[in-house]
Amino acid sequence: MSEWDKLRLEVINCTKCDLYKERRQPVLGEGPLTAEIMLIGEAPGAQEDLEGRPFVGAAGKLLNKMLGEAGLRRNDIYITNIVKCRPPGNREPLPHEEEACLPYLIRQIALVKPRLIITMGKHSTKSLLYISGVKINSISSVRGKPHNIRIGSDELMVIPTYHPAAAIYNPSLRQAIVNDLKQASNLIKGRTRSIMDFIEDKEHR
Ligand code: URA
Ligand code: SF4
Repeated sequence: MSEWDKLRLEVINCTKCDLYKERRQPVLGEGPLTAEIMLIGEAPGAQEDLEGRPFVGAAGKLLNKMLGEAGLRRNDIYITNIVKCRPPGNREPLPHEEEACLPYLIRQIALVKPRLIITMGKHSTKSLLYISGVKINSISSVRGKPHNIRIGSDELMVIPTYHPAAAIYNPSLRQAIVNDLKQASNLIKGRTRSIMDFIEDKEHR
């Protein structure tokens, strides 16, 4: 059985926190397993719980639009959440629920090996930066700032931004998210270009 199949099976049967009691199904994540960019939200909502897919409700529709505006394609990105089961009534996940679920996310990161992670909202930003020893006070103090972190032996970059749900009725947050997504897109393209330059250089030698 592949590591992914093992992970999926464990999450489907997971009872490590009380969120399993009211979930219809867990939402592990979706996207290419070799994605360069990983996007991490908070927790499944009603529609995600129903469909078993991340970001398919109102916040997801806005996210798709903003990704397009930033020149990114949703299909190229691996998308998941800090917590895999829907908190009842869409309340925020509690710290002990995030802690219980975090090992799954760490395994996902180790398997996908993204070069860049975009954390959306304070929950995923706090958790990701906490793993690497960075404590934050507020999302607005870190958003848009690339952080280099190490997870196991992998080094990668994290760009925090606001949660798309917060931007539904707030155009200025929306613009900020699009700018952060553009920055992520440029960073990935920039690095890809420099690798291509390097290869061309070698070929011309
Ligand atoms: N909000 C999230 O944080 N994640 C989802 O999957 C959907 C809405
Ligand atoms: Fe397990 Fe995570 Fe679901 Fe809690 S939220 S039951 S830890 S999969």
